[in-house]
Amino acid sequence: MTVRNTGSAKTYKAATFLFRDDSTTSQTCKPPARLHNINYHRPLLLKDSATQTSFLAWFDSIAKDRQMPWRKAWLSPTSPSNDEEDFNVALAKRAYEVWVSEIMLQQTRVSVVIPYFNNWIEKWPTVEDLAAAQQNEVLAAWKGLGYYSRATRLHEAAQQIVRDMEGVLPGAPEDLLKIKGIGRYTAGAISSIAFGKAAPLLDGNVSRVLCRQLGIHGRVKDKKVEDVLWDVADLLVRTVCKHDEALPTSDIPGRWNQGLMELGSTICTPKPRCDECPLQATCHVYAEGLSITLQDRPTAREEELIDIEDLCHLCEPLELEEVEDAAEEAFEEQKPSGISGSQSRKRSGTSSALPSRPSKLPKSEQGRQRSLRDFAAFASLPKSEKTSLRPKASREAEQRHAQVVGYCSSFPRREPKKTVPEEQCIVCIIKRKTANGLHFLVEQRPSKGLLASLWQFPTHTIQSKLELTGGARRQMSLEFLQSLFAGVSGDKLQFSGEKGLVTHIFSHLKLQMHIHVFNITCEQEIAEALTSEIQSARMWLDEEGVDNATLSTGMKRCWEKVRAGYH
Ligand code: SF4
Ligand SMILES: [Zn+2]
Repeated sequence: MTVRNTGSAKTYKAATFLFRDDSTTSQTCKPPARLHNINYHRPLLLKDSATQTSFLAWFDSIAKDRQMPWRKAWLSPTSPSNDEEDFNVALAKRAYEVWVSEIMLQQTRVSVVIPYFNNWIEKWPTVEDLAAAQQNEVLAAWKGLGYYSRATRLHEAAQQIVRDMEGVLPGAPEDLLKIKGIGRYTAGAISSIAFGKAAPLLDGNVSRVLCRQLGIHGRVKDKKVEDVLWDVADLLVRTVCKHDEALPTSDIPGRWNQGLMELGSTICTPKPRCDECPLQATCHVYAEGLSITLQDRPTAREEELIDIEDLCHLCEPLELEEVEDAAEEAFEEQKPSGISGSQSRKRSGTSSALPSRPSKLPKSEQGRQRSLRDFAAFASLPKSEKTSLRPKASREAEQRHAQVVGYCSSFPRREPKKTVPEEQCIVCIIKRKTANGLHFLVEQRPSKGLLASLWQFPTHTIQSKLELTGGARRQMSLEFLQSLFAGVSGDKLQFSGEKGLVTHIFSHLKLQMHIHVFNITCEQEIAEALTSEIQSARMWLDEEGVDNATLSTGMKRCWEKVRAGYH
């Protein structure tokens, strides 16, 4: 089948090798050298329509078993029972639900999202309802999900859709990209799942699946790898839909894309369960892993056939130790309890068959040819039978299985660990005794930037990188509060103690939060004056009020530490 370039100028630019010719190579490149040309990465899945079909059927059965409130049947515009107006209303709502669910699912588990999603849709069933909501209500409905900027962006985007798009999310990815907070991934999800368009999507899970299917040992954040993965995702979804130039809509793009996400989150995980994978037949990395267990090395003739000019520029060298460690770990995980790791390794001779490291196999086992049939038969057994068969020669098969899984888990190449900068701050919890009990001063953060619009206790950022003494921090916080409360004499503010440290990790920053507690003994008028100038940005709350305020996660942890002291 010839797939024509029907996309924008950007589409397919990165992965020209995919279209160089139609000769998908099914030959496996052999570790550890992995000498291969760039067209090795043309997906085997492209030509295997049987696997494409069975993969869609696999997703259908999973979707039936793992129901989620946002997983619904596709709304077909050609359904004879559809009144056009009703259909458009239903489609607009469906697109809105897909959008909300995708934003909530970013960096959050499905089980956590479900009650939030249900509550959200009940409160604001349409884009218009969300656009009309108050910002505080929106933040309150998000409370506990974390990354509050997602809620603010959803809210602002709903207002934009009502203002500029007649309250309806558009269906084409390029139009969705014009909406605040919608990136390429979310655009692909809405376009394919709700509107049935052959639009690709790529998240961390799908990137991992595709890197393994294609045998790419590169970093998914490397621009050239990322571009290729987008092009492959695009090519695959179009191919599976049998779309060429005319792009009729159908339920296939949504099922296909959701299937890839499901596979990446449940089976092709960082430590994959390849024996349960519906895409095993087309997986380059799985085949490479098997070749290791067979000690199948490239012949000189095979190496000669590699065209140096076309050598792959996407893959980085394999770290042999990393592969071996992953194999040992996989073997440890599958061994039955009661056998220690070292005993287990001794008995079964867990080792890599990678040729460049000395074998750890017992002498009697070295050089023995391993049978692919044994391994394949074992891999296809249900878990219970694997365990019961274990005493009978299955240990060797387990060991091979661990080697394959260990090999697969080394793909894609891991990102180097980032060192995040550290920052320190002082969180000042100021309490005031009144006839109605204790009250605490909180303030709202600016509406833009980090933790936008959330509430916090007055906080002072420590500019020094040095480790300060407790006394120096105390002095610093007193000066900070005196500047904040100009007009309140110093003797009304007493330091009551330092209540520990909370470390909060953002993706770009490690924040050390020192908690200082103060008592303020001022009259009602002064207390009110502290909040009156910027009334909407500061307020006194009782304990319950602080419990219910939309504090950031780090602030909430500071509050919990102090609150525990009162009970
Ligand atoms: S690595 Fe394993 S789980 Fe992932 S796609 Fe390949 S065979 Fe499937
Ligand atoms: Zn490569």
